[in-house]
Amino acid sequence: MKQITLKLPKSTIHDCRIVIGDHVMEKTNRLLDLKKYSSVFVVTDEHIGSLFLKTLLSALPKGTAFIILPTGEKEKHLNSVEKIITAMHKAGCDRHALVINLGGGVITDIGGFAASIFMRGVDVLNIPTTLLSMTDAAIGGKNGVNFSGVKNLIGTIRQPIGVLIDIACLTTLPKREFLSGFAEIIKHGLIKDESFFRLVVSKKPDQFSTSELVKIISRSCEIKAAIVASDEREQSERKLLNFGHTVGHAVEALSLETKKPMLHGEAVAVGMIVESKISQLIGLLTEKDFDIVMEKVLPLTHAIKNVDVELLLNKIQSDKKKHGKQVQWTLLESIGHAVINQTVDDDIIKKAYENISH
Ligand code: NAD
Repeated sequence: MKQITLKLPKSTIHDCRIVIGDHVMEKTNRLLDLKKYSSVFVVTDEHIGSLFLKTLLSALPKGTAFIILPTGEKEKHLNSVEKIITAMHKAGCDRHALVINLGGGVITDIGGFAASIFMRGVDVLNIPTTLLSMTDAAIGGKNGVNFSGVKNLIGTIRQPIGVLIDIACLTTLPKREFLSGFAEIIKHGLIKDESFFRLVVSKKPDQFSTSELVKIISRSCEIKAAIVASDEREQSERKLLNFGHTVGHAVEALSLETKKPMLHGEAVAVGMIVESKISQLIGLLTEKDFDIVMEKVLPLTHAIKNVDVELLLNKIQSDKKKHGKQVQWTLLESIGHAVINQTVDDDIIKKAYENISH
């Protein structure tokens, strides 16, 4: 079992302990001081609930209440938050309750948001079950829901007290979801750690052994945790994590309006390629580095040709990462090194996108 502590600024009441291991879910009660909570409330979805809820409940106090939401990104809206709050209220939860989010990024985002506003905020433990949520969504305290066609338009930042990463959950994860998670792992290498990038692209994602995966997930969590610890409120350093997400969120939001929605990591993979091309076009990134990004990230993308560039530009304009009228881009300077607060003209975005989609 490996442990990482996310040391947070003094304004945050607690640090966040990240525990990574095989079958750690069964030890939830031993890893946490549950006695200090008046009650525990579990949030999960239908699919994940059918796989892991029984195991988790057996490690929690008898009679622990839970809610099972329908599965999928389409459920990431305010109505689901209302359902959770209603169920917590009915179950008699008070300010000293603990919410446990058991699921992928959709559940940790919705459950984290509900917990952050229930009685002005209760403690949260995340038990991520997808590779993407293990290495990204469950860590860092960002939560929220989609609103008015914009990804994560509403949300808060509230750090979980802990993140329990049970590698055993990956055995049931479909390959497409696994690859989607790998996109965020690659992003951590691209923005911060060249040798980690080289390691994670040294084989096909599904060729890594369990012990190699534990190391990869741990390093990926360390990179994210260190960035969040240095800038929890995204004033500077945390913006590095937005690499691939300006185009990625726009592409994802557009794909959600179609019959074949992309997965989050697939959209971020498209975003990383387009934003690397932008970086090259404005003279930040060498052609050689761009070619490496293209070669290694392309297998993780999906349906790159199906997005209209004008619609894409409109979506990008509604991006949260805006300062006044300007979208703030995080771009690549070299592999392992990203730069924040870049501005990019629309014609460069178009050129980069059209170049990639051909
Ligand atoms: P997801 O939560 O939708 O889960 C994907 C699918 O896999 C679901 O159908 C789920 O039921 C199923 N599933 C989950 N775990 C499983 C398992 N172990 N075995 C079998 N099936 C399993 O998708 P995701 O990729 O984890 O998360 C994407 C969401 O995360 C997006 O909404 C994105 O915006 C958000 N996100 C948030 C942050 C953040 O910092 N808050 C960061 C990155 C992504």
